[in-house]
Amino acid sequence: MAYDAIIIGAGMSGLAAGIRLAMYDKKVLILERHYVAGGLNSYYHKFKRPFDVGLHAMTNFVPKGTKRAPLTKLLRQLRIPYDSLQLCEQHGSQIHFPSAQLDFDNDTETLRAEVRRAFPDQIDGFDALTKRVLAYDDTSLDTQPIPSRVILEEHLSNPLLIEMLFCPLMYYGSPNENEMEFGQFCIMWKSVFSEGFARPEGGVRTIIDLLVKKFKELGGELRYSQGVAKILTKEGKAWGVELECERGLTKISTKPRPRSEHAEVIEAAQILSTAGVPETWAMTDGLSTEEPKEAGALTFMESIACLDIEPRELGADKTIVFFNRQETFDYVRAEDYADLRSGVICATNNYDHATPLPEGVLRVTSIASWDKWSAVAKPEPYGELKEKWYQGQLDAMEAVIPTLRERGMRDHITVHDVFTPTTIFHFTRHQRGAIYGAPEKLKSGITPIAGLFIAGTDQGFLGIVGAMLSGISIANAYFLRAGA
Ligand SMILES: Cc1cc2nc3c(=O)[nH]c(=O)nc-3n(C[C@H](O)[C@H](O)[C@H](O)COP(=O)(O)OP(=O)(O)OC[C@H]3O[C@@H](n4cnc5c(N)ncnc54)[C@H](O)[C@@H]3O)c2cc1C
Repeated sequence: MAYDAIIIGAGMSGLAAGIRLAMYDKKVLILERHYVAGGLNSYYHKFKRPFDVGLHAMTNFVPKGTKRAPLTKLLRQLRIPYDSLQLCEQHGSQIHFPSAQLDFDNDTETLRAEVRRAFPDQIDGFDALTKRVLAYDDTSLDTQPIPSRVILEEHLSNPLLIEMLFCPLMYYGSPNENEMEFGQFCIMWKSVFSEGFARPEGGVRTIIDLLVKKFKELGGELRYSQGVAKILTKEGKAWGVELECERGLTKISTKPRPRSEHAEVIEAAQILSTAGVPETWAMTDGLSTEEPKEAGALTFMESIACLDIEPRELGADKTIVFFNRQETFDYVRAEDYADLRSGVICATNNYDHATPLPEGVLRVTSIASWDKWSAVAKPEPYGELKEKWYQGQLDAMEAVIPTLRERGMRDHITVHDVFTPTTIFHFTRHQRGAIYGAPEKLKSGITPIAGLFIAGTDQGFLGIVGAMLSGISIANAYFLRAGA
């Protein structure tokens, strides 16, 4: 049975693209290797409780009815009512360096007032930079990349302030070490500083369930535990996919393999891959005339600690703290298993939830090393190393928020879980566990193979809202044009 479109991956971008196509009566199939949807932002159950894989914050929060905002646009495109996201706003976040702290929240004036307080001689430059960022058209699919550091230095003379502004934006969206492409910088600035953070009541599952339900109601077909092994091409045009013989999350090679007689083949007029650029090239058996793009080097480890107390009772009253424990911020691949010099602490309870969470939750994220973690044998010493680095992450949290130690945080931890770059690879197949994908983005979404397009992380719109917008834009541009 031939489809109008096959989408590889049921992450945020794949589901959003699927909804757009199904809405316009395309016969569309989403194939997902995992047994749940959500991709890099999914959920799982352990210790009799649900855990979000990554979600600290849904960036791009705007109040209901805000015009021309990405969130408003995406909900209109998907015909999903704003209220169904059940968004709870953040209490307030912080950029925390040893010699300065800047608070920010969903009101842009808060950060501006903080910059004026901590860096009074920089406020004019900060205002000029803000204006320039807001004027930048980051929706164009064919802009040329320019580095942002040089632009920041045009407006700001204080290196500490530059590092402080980079810290949250790189942590939430840079696949590049110590630099961000300016378009990406503007997208992240708008989504973090101009718009803001919220969390759906119920966590990321609320969004995933909404998207899956909508897609199915529109007649879309979604198959779990069915990974694509190959994208089949003839005379430079994609015509279908071959499924992996082993279903689900078992050991799958990303290297080209000979055609299997028993593998299922599914035909489609067009294919949209959300698996990532290098990962998609690997599925084309080298038929792409492009050199494989390099996989990203930046990956994270994250620990989640459940508490029998609210984090704020331990003095953790911010929603998110982006911390750096030295004056310069070094956003580079970790040389050891994790780099504890900087990181992100998220107190999930510190959102305006309608119903308070049943327990306290603190998450801490650190830059990690794919090379180190992928070389470790499982289950041991992998388990031991996870514990060792989890303790290191607790130490880092206590150093940044000293009341955590003073008020005995460790005695309040009931259970904890840790995931590493290899966990991310196992559940998403992103090479090297690269959370923000390849450093070089394919903004146009067009590949050298006719009928094959890229959306999601490697198209360049990051975060869950960005990923959904990417799926929508690529579906609109290449699958829903007249005659497509
Ligand atoms: C630890 C962590 C924390 C994060 N925190 C936040 C946050 O707080 N806020 C935020 O907005 N964003 C956050 N993100 C980023 C956000 O999750 C991603 O930007 C977004 O989810 C990317 O969506 P995507 O659809 O582009 O890609 P993905 O989510 O990677 O989806 C791709 C899908 O394709 C599937 N797939 C891959 N290969 C195949 C194949 N061969 N066949 C079939 N299926 C395949 C994968 O299983 C996956 O489901 C975080 C990510 C991580 C990992």
